Order: sequence, then C-alpha cells, then structure tokens
Amino acid sequence: MATLYAVFACISQKFSRAEWIKAVGLDPKKVAVIGAGIVGLNTAYKSAREGMDVTIFEKQEFPPANASSIAGGMLAPFSEIEVMPLNFVQAGLKGISFWKDNLGQEQDKCMQNTGSLFIAHPEDKHMLERFAYHMPDASDEWEWVEGEALAKIEPMVAGRFNRGLYIPAEANLHPLIAMEILAKKLKDMGANIIQKEADPVELEKDFDWVVDCRGWVDGVDKDLRGIKGEIILLENKEFKLSRPVRMMHPRYPLYIIPRPNNVFAVGASAIENADEDDGLVFLRSAMELMSAAYSLHPSFGDAKVLDMSSAIRPSYIDNLPRINITQGQGYDEGEGGYIRCNGTFRHGYLLSPVMANCVSHYIATGEENEDFALFSGQYNFHVASEEAA
Ligand SMILES: Cc1cc2nc3c(=O)[nH]c(=O)nc-3n(C[C@H](O)[C@H](O)[C@H](O)COP(=O)(O)OP(=O)(O)OC[C@H]3O[C@@H](n4cnc5c(N)ncnc54)[C@H](O)[C@@H]3O)c2cc1C
Repeated sequence: MATLYAVFACISQKFSRAEWIKAVGLDPKKVAVIGAGIVGLNTAYKSAREGMDVTIFEKQEFPPANASSIAGGMLAPFSEIEVMPLNFVQAGLKGISFWKDNLGQEQDKCMQNTGSLFIAHPEDKHMLERFAYHMPDASDEWEWVEGEALAKIEPMVAGRFNRGLYIPAEANLHPLIAMEILAKKLKDMGANIIQKEADPVELEKDFDWVVDCRGWVDGVDKDLRGIKGEIILLENKEFKLSRPVRMMHPRYPLYIIPRPNNVFAVGASAIENADEDDGLVFLRSAMELMSAAYSLHPSFGDAKVLDMSSAIRPSYIDNLPRINITQGQGYDEGEGGYIRCNGTFRHGYLLSPVMANCVSHYIATGEENEDFALFSGQYNFHVASEEAA
C-alpha cells in the first residue's frame, strides 16, 4: 500500500493524495486522534488533508480547557535559541510557514506576522546582551533598534526603553481562534470531533492508526513530566503594541502579546512541579506577571484583569517533543499502529504543524520525512544514554 501511495505522489504534482484516493475509489486509512489540543488538531488536519478518514476523540466539550487554549500562541523560534538546538529553531521557521499554509485565507483572523521585540530594564540588560550573544548564527534575522528606529516600530515602548532587539520573522497566533478555525476546516473535510474519554487500546479494533495527542496526563508516559504555565489577560485601552514584546526576566521568559480590542496576554510562568491541573494561578506568579506589564508601561496600572489561568505543559527531560511509533502490535497484516505525539513543552504552537507533517507522512507512506529524526528522541539525553547502555 505504501508503494501505491508513493506512485500516486510521483505520477502527478497536480492532484493531492486525497484527490487520488477519492478518484480511484481506494479505502482511506482510518485514523483516530486522541486529544483536541493543538497537537491533535494539527495532526488530524494534516491527516485529513492527506485523504485519511479521521476521527478526533476529546474528553471535554470543544473548545477544551487545556494548555493549547490558554497558550500565548507565540511562533517565536529565535526567541527560544538559548534553550532549543538550532535545528529545532529552523524547524520552528517551517512551523510558521506550515501555519500560513494550514490557515490559508483565514490567517488574517488569528495570525500576526509582525515579528517580536526583546527589551530589558537596566538591571537585566546583561540578559539581553547574553541573548544577542546566542544569535550570531541567525545574524540576518535580527537587528538592534534604538532611538528613532525603536520609536518607529513601537512608539509607546520607545519612550521608556532606549534599546530593543527586533526579530522580524517571528509571528503569533490567537490560540482559541486558531483552534476553532482548524476544527471548522476538519468538519468541512468530513472529520468528526467526538466528545469522549478515549482509551487507545479500545480504539485499535476500529482504526488503522491511533495517534495519541493527550498532552499532559499523569501516569500515561513515564518519561513525561508536567510544567505549570500561567498567563493573565489584561484590558488596557491606553496602550498599543504592534507585536509581542519579550522582557528579559531572571526567572522565566515574560512576554506581553497584543490581542484584538486592547487586550494583552501576559505570560508565562514555568513552574517545575505539575501541581494539580486546576487552571488556577499562584499569587506570586500573578504579581510577577502584572508587575511586568506595569513596568512596561504605567498605563497598565489602570488595566482591567479579564482572566488568569494556568495549564500543564507536557515535557520530556530535554524539553523537546517526541513522536513515538509502535507499529504492528495488535494490528492485522503488520500495517497500522499506535503513535504517541507529545512533550511539546512551551513550543506546541511552534512545532505541532511540523510534527503533524511527520506523522501524516509516515501513516501515508510508511516512511520518515526529512524532519522526523528531530522528534525521534535522539536529542533526549536519557534516551540516548539508555540506548548506549
Ligand atoms: C501558559 C502557557 C503559555 C504557552 N505559550 C506558548 C506559546 O506562546 N507558543 C507555543 O508554541 N507554545 C506555548 N505553550 C505550550 C503549548 O501550549 C503546549 O505545548 C501545547 O498546547 C500542548 O498541546 P497538546 O495538544 O499536546 O496538549 P493539550 O493542549 O493539553 O491537549 C490535550 C487534550 O487531550 C485531551 N485528552 C486527554 N486525555 C484524553 C482522553 N483519554 N480522551 C480524549 N481526550 C483526552 C485533553 O482534554 C486535552 O484537550 C504554552 C503553554 C502554557 C501553559
């Protein structure tokens, strides 16, 4: 079957694999995706676009309250350069272009392609310099902006900060709107989202492939740990930004993201203890996030607090995501299998479209595409050492 798919891919650039499958009356592969977070939605979307018969199982009503729905939505690969290997930064750039492709004309409703700006208070300026020190490999991708140049891109920041580091290629998404758009596109392609707590073993008998995108669930994957992230939404009618601003901060990366109607998302904490997944925010984090906003501009003193929420980021030991495939077990003819797609840490929006391409390509062809190795776990220190032992 894999060869047949490959032949279709070669015969014509003109028709998609989905169109070929339909045209020749082949039975599409049946794929169950567990979890309608951003990893599940992108995986389902890409698989449906490949012509597969996709069903998503989500235990909550859609849109679910999860890490994806409360996220900042930053698509900021260079901003992560201190904590992410360069090949993941490059994959992140692909992620941005895949988002544009996936959203198509709808991107105007939820995507901002205006880059991001790094700034620091005088006492944290060494952190900005250290960050710039990591950027030479991407020297075409950023610039220092001072004085008039800073005032031109962010006039309300320029009065209070004299220097910023501008990264034009970065983007951001409104998470909930992006999730809704993907869900609608899935529905239009005939894919269902069923509200049900699913068990992968039970799904095996009805589906060729089960793709497990459950995010953080205690006890499902022994290598996964949870990292709490908190974010607040503020309404400030006196302030304007054209792009996310990241403030250097000794404890975690802090950003202030402009959303429609003078709303600003201020996030995000990173607490190395999953705690309960109760959606609540610690007082200390709330104070830190709010004071960051206030220190960006005093008008935040009169801002209204619209929302505070938290969720648990699914993370492996190196904070890099993984795709794990178990093929053939419990399936007829050695075809089909179970794929776990998890551990996106604080890069779920950035990297999930790239992971989704890897997964759908593998299901369609049985082959690993050029990005697959990134998610194989070989960058994970303890997997590498277990294999070496
Ligand atoms: C505060 C915060 C800010 C963030 N900011 C960014 C950012 O700016 N950029 C970025 O790229 N990333 C960001 N992230 C990280 C990103 O949100 C996560 O990496 C990503 O959302 C994880 O997605 P997921 O689909 O794996 O998991 P989730 O979003 O947790 O979704 C998993 C879904 O699976 C469902 N589920 C679980 N078990 C079952 C079951 N048995 N049956 C059916 N359904 C089930 C759950 O209900 C849930 O809806 C942020 C995270 C947080 C918390």
